[in-house]
Amino acid sequence: MAKFYSIRFRLTATFLAIILAVMVIISLFLYNTLERYHMNNLEDSLERSGFLASEFVVGHLRGQVDSVRLSALAENMSRQAQARVLFTDQQGVVVGDSVRVGGLLNQGLEHELVRRALDGQVSSSIGYSERIDHQVIQLTVPVFEADDTITGVVFLSASLEEVYRILNDIRRFLFLATVLAMAVVGGGSVALARRFTDPLESLTAASRKMAEGKLDQHIEVSTRDEIGRLAEQFNIMAKRLNYYTTNLKKFAADVAHEVRTPLTTMSLLTRALREHEMEPEQQQEFIEDLDNELERLTALVSDLLELSKLEKNEIQLEEVAINRLFKDTIGEYQYRFARAGLDLIDEIPDQEIIIRGAPVQLRQVLSNLLDNAMNYTSTGGTVTVSQYPDEDEVVTKVADTGCGIPEEDLNYIFERFFRVDRARSREGGGTGLGLAIVSEIIAKHGGKVWVESKEGEGSSFYFTLPLVEE
Ligand code: ADP
Repeated sequence: MAKFYSIRFRLTATFLAIILAVMVIISLFLYNTLERYHMNNLEDSLERSGFLASEFVVGHLRGQVDSVRLSALAENMSRQAQARVLFTDQQGVVVGDSVRVGGLLNQGLEHELVRRALDGQVSSSIGYSERIDHQVIQLTVPVFEADDTITGVVFLSASLEEVYRILNDIRRFLFLATVLAMAVVGGGSVALARRFTDPLESLTAASRKMAEGKLDQHIEVSTRDEIGRLAEQFNIMAKRLNYYTTNLKKFAADVAHEVRTPLTTMSLLTRALREHEMEPEQQQEFIEDLDNELERLTALVSDLLELSKLEKNEIQLEEVAINRLFKDTIGEYQYRFARAGLDLIDEIPDQEIIIRGAPVQLRQVLSNLLDNAMNYTSTGGTVTVSQYPDEDEVVTKVADTGCGIPEEDLNYIFERFFRVDRARSREGGGTGLGLAIVSEIIAKHGGKVWVESKEGEGSSFYFTLPLVEE
């Protein structure tokens, strides 16, 4: 049943129906035109022969009629006109017949056409001849004397056998042409339909496998048409879905791992506190460690929340004087940097730079970068924040003279939970999500973020934000 609903079946059936309708219309038109043409031709030639005969015979119908002579004349004309020729007198009695044996000589010709000819009309009709057992075309012409009196009738009767033979040939030819056209169109449309449906069937099969959970599907794209583009888009979609699902699984495993570490430490600490006698100072130390682990967990959870919030919501953008916002943030960090023995240099211009952004999130971008700079730069180092316009964007740069990042890790450092040195990150209270949050926020603002770094010399983080057009 499904076969009858398939595109292949419907396309082929539609093409066949169209070609059949077209061929039938063309055949009918052609057949009728040719039939009319042949009939008219035959009628014209009979009429000409009839007039010729009437001129010829007019003298022979005067006075005493010689039917032997008239029959010989009719026979002669019959050969030329390729038709039976009869002459009648004023009463419609046959006085000459080209058919000698079994002819109608001396018989009255009771025929509508003869009556009309005796009334002065030239007329014709299609009839049936029992003698030759075939359709015939009959035509009568009156024979006029010089004073316009009618002295007789020329009656011509030609067989339509030849005409019908030609028309039959044409009919057979048209039938064969229709069959041939249908075979060609049928074959063509099956091939064409297959071209469409084969990739669609691959798509269906691949979609079914994806629904079953096998996400690594790929379809061979062999055409550049709409279906080819659909297959191409399907491949992109499958790849993305696969990537996201793999990432999601990895992310869930990473989160579990990140949570387990502080939980294990906390469990060990509480067990030690509960099970071992210890000095109050040592107890205090353990409680502080517990507190630190809790803080780490809280930071991790709030970073995770921040990330999921960023993924869920479109952030609200407003006009922000980005130079002032960053100057204020740097001001807030000065004390912490000084305490860590680091120089924080503000090279942000005083002249207003306006962008469209979310101030809270933008502040977080700079905070995360400053936290990192502080965490990965040893005492005595310098961190410089500068800002400059570049075409229709403003670039902010946070440069430190810290430990730098190994070249092979540069591509990964914006990924969630990636850390060059896990211990150092943990020591500084890092969650491994800071740069992922930075990259997410900047992307939401339509900007880019990148890093340049040399191990042992320092790192420079850059991010761009589109300027508000004046
Ligand atoms: P973390 O919380 O571990 O700092 P981030 O996502 O902020 O997580 O950074 C990812 C990793 O990138 C860090 O663990 C660190 O190894 C490296 N990194 C980030 N900023 C710097 C920097 N200024 N100097 C050197 N390494 C850095």
